[in-house]
Amino acid sequence: MRLQRTYPVACLSLAIITSSSFATAEAMHSVVTPPSCSNNQGEPVLFISRSGLQGQVAAGMANRDTDGNPVIYRMNYDTAAPAFQRFIDFHECAHHQVGHVDQPHPPRNSFEHLMNESIADCVAILRVREEANESYAAILDDLKTAMTRVGFPKSSTDSRMSNVINCYENYGSSAEFIEGVLNQSKAD
Ligand SMILES: [Zn+2]
Repeated sequence: MRLQRTYPVACLSLAIITSSSFATAEAMHSVVTPPSCSNNQGEPVLFISRSGLQGQVAAGMANRDTDGNPVIYRMNYDTAAPAFQRFIDFHECAHHQVGHVDQPHPPRNSFEHLMNESIADCVAILRVREEANESYAAILDDLKTAMTRVGFPKSSTDSRMSNVINCYENYGSSAEFIEGVLNQSKAD
């Protein structure tokens, strides 16, 4: 039996709101089929839909459930465009792929916390490039709009965007990147 984890990797701070969900409550989207995802120990990750919280915010959370199984909770996904739902899935999956879920959660907004988020964003956009490249521009737009509307300062939004764009334009495959992160954490 595994220890129950007390530090979920929640990405609510990276909350996603589509522009349309602000204008009309009925602007709902269909929810995409989850991508394939397994963690750094080869365990399959289960995607579970949840609604509630603040109704119009789509967000994800990577965690282990009470039985110790790796899971991703998908919250209010129908408020986000399908391409953006996929980006959130890839981002949360990345937290499992590089082992963040099983590490102590770094203090909020610490350098390490921001680094973990940058890593997850990087893996996510590389998977977009590999599996759904046509949605890249729309995802950038949605990400920028969402962060601005949720109230992030322009500096945070700009640095997140430039990280994502840099990864997309300059990095190798998601698999290579993940391997590099795992080797780095072994070396620490
Ligand atoms: Zn995250």
